[in-house]
Amino acid sequence: MSDMDCNLYRAFRQAFPKDLGACAIEVEGSRYWSFDDIERASAKFANLLCASAARPGSRVAVQVEKSAEALVLYLACVRAGLVYLPLNSAYREGELDYFLGNAKPDVVVASPQNFSWLSKIAFRHGAAHVYTLDADGRGSLIERAAAKSDAFKTVASGEDDLAAILYTSGTTGRSKGAMLTHGNLLSNARVLKEFWHWQSDDVLLHTLPLFHVHGLFVAAHGALLAGAKMIFRSRFDAGEVIALLPRATVFMGVPTYYVRLLSHAGFDAACCANMRLFLCGSAPLLAETFEAFRQRTGHTILERYGMSETVMLTSNPYAGERIAGTVGQPLPGTLVRVVDEDHKECRPGDIGHIEVKGPNVFPGYWRMPEKTAEEFTHDGFFKTGDMGRWIVFDHLPQPYLSIVGRSKDLIITGGYNVYPKEIEAIIDELPGVLESAVIGIAHPDFGEAVTAVVVARPGVEVKEPILLAALKAKIANFKVPKRIHVVAELPRNTMGKVQKNVLREKFSAAMG
Ligand code: AMP
Repeated sequence: MSDMDCNLYRAFRQAFPKDLGACAIEVEGSRYWSFDDIERASAKFANLLCASAARPGSRVAVQVEKSAEALVLYLACVRAGLVYLPLNSAYREGELDYFLGNAKPDVVVASPQNFSWLSKIAFRHGAAHVYTLDADGRGSLIERAAAKSDAFKTVASGEDDLAAILYTSGTTGRSKGAMLTHGNLLSNARVLKEFWHWQSDDVLLHTLPLFHVHGLFVAAHGALLAGAKMIFRSRFDAGEVIALLPRATVFMGVPTYYVRLLSHAGFDAACCANMRLFLCGSAPLLAETFEAFRQRTGHTILERYGMSETVMLTSNPYAGERIAGTVGQPLPGTLVRVVDEDHKECRPGDIGHIEVKGPNVFPGYWRMPEKTAEEFTHDGFFKTGDMGRWIVFDHLPQPYLSIVGRSKDLIITGGYNVYPKEIEAIIDELPGVLESAVIGIAHPDFGEAVTAVVVARPGVEVKEPILLAALKAKIANFKVPKRIHVVAELPRNTMGKVQKNVLREKFSAAMG
């Protein structure tokens, strides 16, 4: 541990432009927050939180709609050395009971419409104060902070001091609280700033949620550390994005956003004329979307890979070739390896477990020392739970990482390993198929039966026997799905990840 001050807010503050009156966040209705507004409002929030029983290390749990105030609340926590705990606004009572019971926050901030049930849960788990904050930036948090001083001395934070806890999205199991330190977040933000060439005259169009690593630590940190402006929208709306893009230079999205932009007739090269960079992550971007985007706009989407526990790990190059179906190379300072079951490094092309080490990697799960110990190797690498392989391209000096799926999604059928992504890629190429998800369903003979769920292209009908016949001609029999279900759309969470647990539940009965 170093004694150096790594307080993340201090680093942002140092990057603010000389003219503190410049626009930092433009919100709906052409209202804007200057950098000075951020400095003063975060001081007021920090003073209120510190007067509300929160002291360095205390958790501040926040389940609110997106707003500039919510971002400033996060900055206030960081400034005061408190641990920010953002919660997906879709979570309901059972989930909140688990999170607050696990994290034991001293202060909770809720949407006004959830106040009555959420405050009961919060007080039951020992919170001293529950404030409200709505989507328009109104609520008791604002009222109570109004009387506080707009000056606050940012605390000194060591690199190991906690800045946030992010509960993992739990698409494969119970959520765990990933603890992120000032050192983790600051080192990653600095690397990304260089790697993606953030400049103070960039304008980030921010339409991602703020409760997740993507919108908070990748998007907002990028703009803040560059002293750049953000245009904030509460959610992604393709029409609105198309109207705002001409004023932006950077956009970040999950694959679904890009699919929606492409299906909008008004989306063309002209509205991207000022754009410098389109970034994508959180879920796999289909090669078809990548290609269609390039053809429509002339821009090549830069896909990167990361997760709550590690922030960003790999990225396609900024200046070099960006390759569809890959997440690029390890970011500077981060070690990434792909290993087999015996922990030996895999040869390029061979599928294995992705493991990672670096200053960006979290120290562990909140109050889960055993789970933490299980997820790290003896030489300090974090087991990401993702499976992948290195792909070597003859004309390029370094291999690119390609993600094949989650290890928990790995299907073992009759003793054979089947990687869903491999089958999905083949199904997606069949005529009439828009996209697919491949899952394992318990089966008396095979252990698990490979099962595919398919979405047809608009106006096209696809039939199970025809798809099955086509697959039998292309892949080994054990990989061919036992059943193919055709559905109107795949269930996705807010970050665009296909909820395979929902599909498994839905189709397990169908296996019989
Ligand atoms: P979360 O912690 O919610 O951000 O989820 C992290 C997980 O999202 C990773 O472990 C990957 O499984 C997945 N993920 C993130 N970025 C990508 C990407 N570019 N391609 C494929 N999967 C991704």
